[in-house]
Amino acid sequence: MTRPTHALIDTGAFVANYRLTKALAPGARALAVVKADGYGHGAIPLAQALGNEADAFGVACSEEALALRAAGITAPILLMEGPFDKGEIALAAQHGFMLAMHSPLQLDWLLAAQLETPVDVWLKIDTGMHRLGFAPEQLATVHSRLRQCPNVGQIVLMSHFARADEPDSAATGDQLARFEAAAADIDAPRCLANSAAILAWPDTHADWIRPGIVLYGVSPLPGAADPRLRPVMRFESELIAIHELRPGDAIGYGARFTCSHPTRVGVVAAGYADGYPRHAPDGTPVAVNGRRTHLIGRVSMDMLTVDITDQPRAAIGDRVQLWGDVVSAAEVAAHSDTIAYQLFTGVNRRVHFRYR
Ligand SMILES: *Cc1c(COP(=O)(O)O)cnc(C)c1O
Repeated sequence: MTRPTHALIDTGAFVANYRLTKALAPGARALAVVKADGYGHGAIPLAQALGNEADAFGVACSEEALALRAAGITAPILLMEGPFDKGEIALAAQHGFMLAMHSPLQLDWLLAAQLETPVDVWLKIDTGMHRLGFAPEQLATVHSRLRQCPNVGQIVLMSHFARADEPDSAATGDQLARFEAAAADIDAPRCLANSAAILAWPDTHADWIRPGIVLYGVSPLPGAADPRLRPVMRFESELIAIHELRPGDAIGYGARFTCSHPTRVGVVAAGYADGYPRHAPDGTPVAVNGRRTHLIGRVSMDMLTVDITDQPRAAIGDRVQLWGDVVSAAEVAAHSDTIAYQLFTGVNRRVHFRYR
């Protein structure tokens, strides 16, 4: 292993965060969302760490679900966007995947299929996000057609919030009310809450919660980090060069940063091709030897530059944390006008992943 650019994944932190979500929603079961390769952390080692402690896993597509099954994961797995073609219905029955059902087309495929074992269905209702789901007024009809179909095992009613990360918005309460009104006469478990709703909207916890980003140690809510959550990824590299620059010297492409005083600059082996955001501005926090400093100069493909004027003894080979426990991914995201979800899923596979 040559280039010192690593993602260190703390599987124990992932398990601890899962347990926290269960404690926050007592009585609810939890679908651990590990789509997009576990938000870029590696779904398989995380799912293996949780094992059968997970009530179920949620993924975006059958490829992701098959990879978990191939790795020995036996817990139920939900395909959260349901089948993308009719062949995936039989595949789901064969492997015991649960299917979201959000459209009339998917419903036709399922009703017409000839399955040897029924599939469990998560019937999605659009309560205001206007992305996926049946209209609330269609719910009763769709539910009774599913209920009468021998291809269908258990049915869970689900919906998704658009603004649960806005504690002052009325939208989440409105969505919940629409959901409850539509589902009032149906006896089936209910699932609404994503991470933001788990933290901010206890009324939405219902029978199942769907934690995603919180499992990776990030709160989607505005404001200070939630101290109960443990970061799962430490994205780290090392100093590979150090320069003493004079006032007027510029750094990197476009000379975005010009030194106003004598400045010690560290060159770090991580860049936008590793998943560090290219648009991170000067001042974005970075930790060198566990101490916070900041980015100066434009991020390159394989390198970035940091101010180490305050660390006269910093040397080549010293540890740099791009995000993790000293600098949070949420902070880097906020500086870079994005969200931790995008930073995590953007970490490139040339970065060496290590699990403990
Ligand atoms: C991704 C996803 C989640 C998890 O969202 P977080 O904000 O990461 O908690 C929950 N439900 C559905 C349907 C999703 O697609």
